[in-house]
Amino acid sequence: MHICVLGAGVIGVTSAYRLLEAGHQVTLVDAAALPGSETSLGNGAQLSYSYVAPLADPSVWSHWPEYLFGADSPLTLRPKMDPAQWRWLLKFLAACNTKRVRQTTVDLLRLAFFSREQLQQLTQAVPLDFQYRSAGKLVMYGDAKGLDSARKQIAFQAEHGCQQQIIDAARCVEIEPALANAKRDWAGGVYTASEEAGDCALFCRQLVGAMSQQSGFRFAHSQRIHQLEMRNGALTAVHAGQEQIDADAFVLALGSASADFARRAGFSLPLYPLKGYSITVPLIDSANQAAAPQVSITDLAKKIVYARLGERLRVAGRVELVGMDRSIPAAAIDELKRGVSELFPGCGDLSDSASLSPWSGFRPATPSGVPLIGATPVKNLYLNVGHGSLGWTLAHGSATLLTQLIAGRATAIDASPFSFSA
Ligand SMILES: Cc1cc2nc3c(=O)[nH]c(=O)nc-3n(C[C@H](O)[C@H](O)[C@H](O)COP(=O)(O)OP(=O)(O)OC[C@H]3O[C@@H](n4cnc5c(N)ncnc54)[C@H](O)[C@@H]3O)c2cc1C
Repeated sequence: MHICVLGAGVIGVTSAYRLLEAGHQVTLVDAAALPGSETSLGNGAQLSYSYVAPLADPSVWSHWPEYLFGADSPLTLRPKMDPAQWRWLLKFLAACNTKRVRQTTVDLLRLAFFSREQLQQLTQAVPLDFQYRSAGKLVMYGDAKGLDSARKQIAFQAEHGCQQQIIDAARCVEIEPALANAKRDWAGGVYTASEEAGDCALFCRQLVGAMSQQSGFRFAHSQRIHQLEMRNGALTAVHAGQEQIDADAFVLALGSASADFARRAGFSLPLYPLKGYSITVPLIDSANQAAAPQVSITDLAKKIVYARLGERLRVAGRVELVGMDRSIPAAAIDELKRGVSELFPGCGDLSDSASLSPWSGFRPATPSGVPLIGATPVKNLYLNVGHGSLGWTLAHGSATLLTQLIAGRATAIDASPFSFSA
């Protein structure tokens, strides 16, 4: 079959790889010149297989005033006259209950572990250099109460295959010596040795480079999709830039732009863009490099994540429900810079924000945090969307699952939690 994959973020690129591997002819289309140029560009870089608990959590109920009015809240809601925002919020709140969160966590852990296997298999088949590292992850807790409540989650996740340890602050420093210079105290942490990290955009670019050597693959770059051709309940072509691309089947992987495409194809997707920011600190000399962490870190008190990418440190944070506002306010970048100078002083020169590649991106999020993979009401259009805060982590398993669903074969893991119902 000729399959056209719409969107060359990490979800579209991995989908294209698995479909090509399965013997299909694949055209990958994107508005940008290079793959991985939108949300897959500056994300937190963590392959976070054991930290998949969704944002929709019962604790959200007690934090509303902070989200709406708190100047320093890591989650900000700016209510808009936008029915899509309100519809999404109502479904999000409905998902904020313990039973649903537990089920979502189990479904996502299964997909995440499958993803880890698939990434390992892929990198054995296609050698790629994307600053991959398997140095583990430490989630730091500011107070003993938070750390204590993590115990329950860890016991629950242990039943589903996670191996995580609760450790005190001194042990955190043994695991990550760069924390010895931190200018702040914390209570302790949760350490997961099996977590990984890597540069998501570099991965996308290298994988597209490798696929481009194969005859059945074409990357139609710099082609913005602006029109759809439908006939008898099927999508027959998309118009992208000056091109008309006909195909037997299409995969929708346009990240946050997928909701708009779906609307034009006649159905509604429960997706909302959750905005976040990052900076990338160049670790110029050996003193900077020694002061930066090797282990991936999540600072829960500030909701900032850190990942080492060779001689750079990626620092990401914030969740904002503000629509597709692409601005990068200085305050958001200053918050990330403050986080770095408190936890890892001396790891880089933070004075010039422009040298830190300030970035904003939009997590394509479903209300429950569960991605949508598989069939749509349009008979030859398939979904691979809605990976929210975990697209880099879940991409590899999602792509294989999608390919198995398109083939009508038995799937490696239960695909039903990810199916779309209109
Ligand atoms: C601050 C932040 C930190 C994050 N940290 C992590 C992390 O540590 N670990 C993790 O697993 N995930 C993380 N994520 C989430 C992850 O980055 C996303 O889930 C993932 O990148 C989504 O990939 P995607 O392919 O669906 O979307 P995108 O990467 O946005 O790709 C969509 C593509 O569609 C293209 N496109 C859109 N409209 C059109 C059009 N009309 N025509 C043609 N092309 C079009 C775009 O150019 C883009 O290339 C983070 C996200 C943010 C914002």
